[in-house]
Amino acid sequence: MSYDVVVIGAGSVGTPTGFYLAKQGLKVLVIDRLPSPGQGSNKAAIGGVRATHSDPAKIRLGLRTIEILSRFAEQYGYDVEWRSGGYVFVAYRPQEEKILKDLVALQRSYGLDIRWCGAEELLRIVPDLNPEGLRGGTYSPGDGHCSPLLLCHAYYELAKREGAEFKFGEEVVGIEVHNGRVRAVRTTQGVYPTAVVINAAGAWAAHIGKLLGVDHPVYPDCHEAGITEPVAPFLAPMIVDIRPGPGSANCYFHQLATGQIAFCITPDPPIWGEDLRETSAFLPQVARRIIQVVPRLAGIRVRRTWRGLYPMTPDGLPLVGWVEEVRGYLVAIGLCGQGVMLGPALGELLARLVAGLVLPEDQVVLHSLSPERSFERAEALR
Ligand SMILES: Cc1cc2nc3c(=O)[nH]c(=O)nc-3n(C[C@H](O)[C@H](O)[C@H](O)COP(=O)(O)OP(=O)(O)OC[C@H]3O[C@@H](n4cnc5c(N)ncnc54)[C@H](O)[C@@H]3O)c2cc1C
Repeated sequence: MSYDVVVIGAGSVGTPTGFYLAKQGLKVLVIDRLPSPGQGSNKAAIGGVRATHSDPAKIRLGLRTIEILSRFAEQYGYDVEWRSGGYVFVAYRPQEEKILKDLVALQRSYGLDIRWCGAEELLRIVPDLNPEGLRGGTYSPGDGHCSPLLLCHAYYELAKREGAEFKFGEEVVGIEVHNGRVRAVRTTQGVYPTAVVINAAGAWAAHIGKLLGVDHPVYPDCHEAGITEPVAPFLAPMIVDIRPGPGSANCYFHQLATGQIAFCITPDPPIWGEDLRETSAFLPQVARRIIQVVPRLAGIRVRRTWRGLYPMTPDGLPLVGWVEEVRGYLVAIGLCGQGVMLGPALGELLARLVAGLVLPEDQVVLHSLSPERSFERAEALR
């Protein structure tokens, strides 16, 4: 049995990619070493989806994902808990006000629906924000959130319906190459002949690169998150506070469609590695930060915390495209903290790449995210 494409990883990127490839009529196999879809970083994500980035490639992909999610239930019949509540980046100090205002100018130049709001206007949008010292913030009403796992499972079902095959509990341990071209993928259970391999192995993508002697600068970066009990809806947008705090760079939180508050911080200094055991330091650190921004959160009980991995890159941008050294080897890796929000649009793009149907507007994305780039610049909102 041979396949047109083998996708390594049934996560935020690999699962939608499996669907869009199969929809093109290609014979697709998606392999994951874990027992079901979304068991890597996908299920650790809290589901924020935004187009308000500072890089044109990510903006384009983010906008496309939002379009896909807005019609997902109607088009495919799956409720992935998409809510278009917007994103609010708050500023309590002149430093953050300047960063955000400068970014708004750039984001608006890319056609994004985002604006700077003074404190009074922002408090009308999010009445529960702490008014003390609030200088204002940005508001992008088109952004939103969804359930990462529901989305991944919906794509899994859709992909199977289109004829894609999935193998779980199989680890990819080798990629066979003949005359510089991919020939087969070897797992702990078997060998699958194919001319095209897509590395969508998330935080573990560098291990796959090593199988081919290719060095991918993707590093597992630990982030912790938590969730509260459900409460009546009171918070529509995702709130992001980019102020540094003790032991953390920024924090973000939102209320899920099911009422719980989900929250994260970005540890500073970063915690590198694949250790998924959460620490006891996280909860007091994050609780202090989010209560400071929305004091009303003080009365809500936390149900659970967990740790997951961002597949981090040196510049905060993913690596997407064919790898020059090995023909037939395509990567969609290094999604950092944005794999859920970029995955659907990336899946479509990868399917176009494999089918040779790349659109002129795809070139912006492929150029910016090229795996062969030099990593000199950095994305402002990682
Ligand atoms: C706390 C936290 C909060 C986050 N919040 C958000 C958010 O709000 N919005 C957002 O967009 N993103 C968020 N993210 C980031 C998001 O989770 C990742 O960017 C995304 O899941 C990466 O997608 P991926 O498909 O590259 O990797 P994954 O979803 O991890 O999928 C990779 C898959 O590859 C498999 N794999 C790896 N190696 C092998 C192998 N050798 N053989 C077979 N299978 C293999 C893994 O088992 C895994 O299932 C968050 C992450 C964390 C940790």
